Order: sequence, then structure tokens, then C-alpha cells
Amino acid sequence: MIKKVLIANRSEIAVRIIRAAREEGISSVAVYSDVDKDALHVRMADESYNIGLPPAKESYLNADKIIETALKANCQAIHPGYGFLAENADFAKKVEDAGLIFVGPSHASVLAMGDKIQARNLMTKAGVPVVPGILAKIDSFSHAKKEAEQLGYPILVKAAGGGGGKGIRLVSNSNELEAALEAAAREATSAFSDPRVYLEKYLEKPRHIEVQVLADSFGNTVHLFERECSIQRRHQKVIEESPSFIVDDDLRAKMGNAAVRAAKAVNYRSAGTIEFLVDQNKNFFFLEMNTRIQVEHPLTELITGLDLVRLQFRIANGAKIPFTQDQIHRHGHAIECRIYAEDPENNFLPSPGKLHLVRMPQGPGIRVDSGIETGLEISIYYDPILSKIIAWGENRETARQRMLIALRETVVLGVQTPVSFLLDVLNDPNFISGHTHTGFLEEHGFINKPPTDKEVPLEVLVAAALYRPERAVAAEGKTLSSTPWTEIGPWKIGG
Ligand code: ADP
Ligand code: ADP
Ligand code: MG
Repeated sequence: MIKKVLIANRSEIAVRIIRAAREEGISSVAVYSDVDKDALHVRMADESYNIGLPPAKESYLNADKIIETALKANCQAIHPGYGFLAENADFAKKVEDAGLIFVGPSHASVLAMGDKIQARNLMTKAGVPVVPGILAKIDSFSHAKKEAEQLGYPILVKAAGGGGGKGIRLVSNSNELEAALEAAAREATSAFSDPRVYLEKYLEKPRHIEVQVLADSFGNTVHLFERECSIQRRHQKVIEESPSFIVDDDLRAKMGNAAVRAAKAVNYRSAGTIEFLVDQNKNFFFLEMNTRIQVEHPLTELITGLDLVRLQFRIANGAKIPFTQDQIHRHGHAIECRIYAEDPENNFLPSPGKLHLVRMPQGPGIRVDSGIETGLEISIYYDPILSKIIAWGENRETARQRMLIALRETVVLGVQTPVSFLLDVLNDPNFISGHTHTGFLEEHGFINKPPTDKEVPLEVLVAAALYRPERAVAAEGKTLSSTPWTEIGPWKIGG
């Protein structure tokens, strides 16, 4: 039985896992790098250990150090969260070999699905439709050229070991092919130490719709409906929702069954996600499986009332899934917005800095999973996710309205955040009518959008009203000569 768990992660997901552990009566052990010594997850955990220098390779990716720390702290289990070592089969194997429980699937399942080429082959055998493309790696430029011509442009070059939107390149014609192959392989080598790439047909305006699955060690496998994650920048999600606007009961059952088949094909255990692309004729194609808890898992929790992280702990402890497929129900609609420290007006580049003030929204139907608080320093070393706001409502429009209110309540000073960008997207008529696809942000001009004249925030108006020019001048040891203009003041002059 798990009495103590080490959480091999940081930020909001580490906090989320600590809370679930607490509800299960499990003590939590946090690990942290030098820059994270004051982080929220460190202070929330029951114990914490420094595991090294800020670069992830020297701390959060140091498998041996993490396992050694878990053993030293007398943990029985390690929860990997998402990112970092979560989809690293070697790590899962080492955890198993050390006699610890990996709160997730077996290393064999991670291995089978971690390689996109192998996963596509397995799915084809299991009768799950995959995105049209090749089933082997590219081994030369001439090979790539031949395959690309057969598929027909546009195509995507994709990294076999890909994740987080990295190692993907769009190729519109044969002239762009060679450079794209090199760029994708280079990015894949630096991100996943694996240069292998393959080709997929580029689907036009698909939706990204994924299915949450849950499996125990006894072969019981269920699905927990879909999440639509089509609003993306750089192939990475920013707004997600559940249910999807276009998924009806028939399609839901078909995709759910395919997802269960996919999970069973790799003897899956724990929570996992089967990602699909859905074309304009509602054909769905397997994209990849994420063998871990997903960033957007709270959507599923809000519409089903289940707690996926607690279920992960129970399954890791050898429990059976305590319900059948028929007993899982959906209620209402949920929308999630990811709050990153990044600047939408500057190509979504990360925006590190000190958080001078953090105020997260509250209220009916609002859940906030956050890893930040006032005073924290956001470094350049890790994924810049700060927190997630999830709004639930009886229907899509209620959830959307609650999200608008929540975003307007959100205050994060000191770094750039996408809050006003998210408000614009949520208010876009095409979003409101549910006409989303993975190229939505590009198509509707949200990428590289020039700064617009926004409504001036109330705080700025108050500051302007209170501003006295004579004080500013006095601070410099000068006096302001009295003129009608200074009497009126800049506030009235400015209209
Ligand atoms: P999700 O798939 O849960 O919706 P993302 O794709 O945004 O979320 O990934 C969440 C985090 O996990 C990001 O920091 C991303 O870079 C990281 N990540 C995702 N897949 C992998 C992988 N295969 N290897 C390493 N890191 C990954
Ligand atoms: P990652 O492992 O980085 O998450 P995925 O294979 O899940 O990579 O793809 C990420 C995103 O890239 C998808 O959600 C989608 O927007 C886009 N994408 C991937 N493959 C295709 C494709 N064949 N056609 C169109 N878009 C694609
Ligand atoms: Mg993906």
C-alpha cells in the first residue's frame, strides 16, 4: 500500500497531485531544483528534497537522483505528473526495478506508445484508424520524396519521439521537404534525443478530439468521454473543452470504443489519453497516446464528477475500477484556459519575471489549478505554465460566460499572460458558434495580431485620477508654477 509518494514534477501538476494524495491519506514528498526552493509545491508537500541545479537535465530529468531520493525518504511510489520523465519508459522501468510503484502504466506500455511509428503500427493491427501516412521511419531524402509524392502535399514531417508540439514541420511542396526534414530531426534530437522522423498527410482544418481512458490491472478498461482541444498555438493547446461541439452520441460511442481498443492493445493501466484528429466529415484518426495524466484532465473531472488522480493512486494500489462503463455519466460543459507566462503579442514567447501580484478567480463553477502565488519568480528553465482556469456550466454558453468573468477577475502582474488574448478568442463569433479547428488561431488572425486599443483597465483610470503632477515635480525638488492647466490637471485635459 502506498503510504508516501514522491512527486517527480513541479508547478500546478505537483500541487494537484499533492492534493489528491492528501485525500487518499498518502503523504507527499516534493523534489525541487535550486530555483524552485520557494515554489508552492515545495511548501505544500509534507517533505521536500533538493535534487539539483536549475536545468531540467540536472534535476527534474535526473532519474537516478529522483529514485534515490524516493528510497531515502521511504516512499513506496513515484507519481511522474506530465512532461519531464512521465513518458520515459527507461524511468518507469528503473522505478519498477527499484521496487517502487510507478503511478501510471507499465514501462512496456509507455515504450509501445512512446514511439509514434510503432504506435501507428500497433493501432493499425488493432483496427483503430490512424492518420494517413507512412508506418516506418524516413531513412533518406529520396525515400521521403517518394513517400511524400505518394501521400500528396501538404504533408507533415513528424518526430517519432515527439511531444509538446515539438519536432513537427509542415511541408507544402517538394522544395520545402529537405529543410523540413532537417529542422524536425534537429529539434527532435535536442528535445527527445531521437532524430527519427516520419510523414503524415496534413489534414485540412481538423479538430483535435481526444478520449480519456482509465484501466486497472485486471483488464477493466473504460473511457470517460472526449475533450476537444482544437484551439492551439504552435501545435500546443491553449483552450480545451468537453464535450466537443461536434461529437454526438453515435460518434462518442465509436471514438470511445476505439480508444478502449487502443488502450487494450498495449495492456494499458492507469489514466491515459488517446488523441484523435477528426476531419470535416467526422472521420476520426488516431494521432497518438499520452501515457500519463493530461494537462486538461480537470475538464473530465468536472463533467463526470470523478477524480482521475485519486483513481490513479487507487489503481496503482491494485484496486479495481469501482464502476462500469454504463455507470459513468456526463453532466454539463467545461472549458479550460491555460495561463502561461508568455506574450501573445510577441509570438507567444516565454515571459519570465517576478510575480508582483497574483489573484486567481473564484466563484460558482470555477476551478483553479495553480502553481503560483504573489512573490514567486518565474524562471526561464521550465514549461511556462502558471495555472489553469476551468469553468463548468449546465451548457456551453454558461461555461463560456463563467470563464469570461473568471478571466476578468484574474490578476497576474509582473509577467505577460494570455488573459486578454483568451478573452478575445472566447468572444470570437466563430468560437461562440463552435466552428473550431486546429488552425483556428491562424485563420482568424489571433497569431501575430498587432496590439489593439483595448479598453483601459479600471485600475489605470483610478491611478490617472489620483495622479498629481505637483507631487511628481516636488519629488524632484522642484515646484510647479501654477497655471490654469495645472489647476485642471492631466485627467480633465485628457478627457
Ligand atoms: P497535454 O498533452 O497534456 O495536453 P502538452 O502537450 O502541452 O499537454 O504537454 C504538457 C507538457 O509536457 C509540456 O511541458 C510538454 O513539453 C511536455 N511533454 C509532452 N510530451 C512530452 C514528451 N513526449 N516528452 C517530454 N515532454 C513532453
Ligand atoms: P505532440 O506529441 O507534440 O502532442 P501530436 O501528434 O499530438 O504531437 O500533434 C500535435 C498537434 O499537431 C495536433 O493536435 C494537431 O493540431 C497537429 N497535427 C499533428 N498531426 C497532424 C496532421 N497529420 N494533420 C494536421 N494536423 C496535425
Ligand atoms: Mg499530442
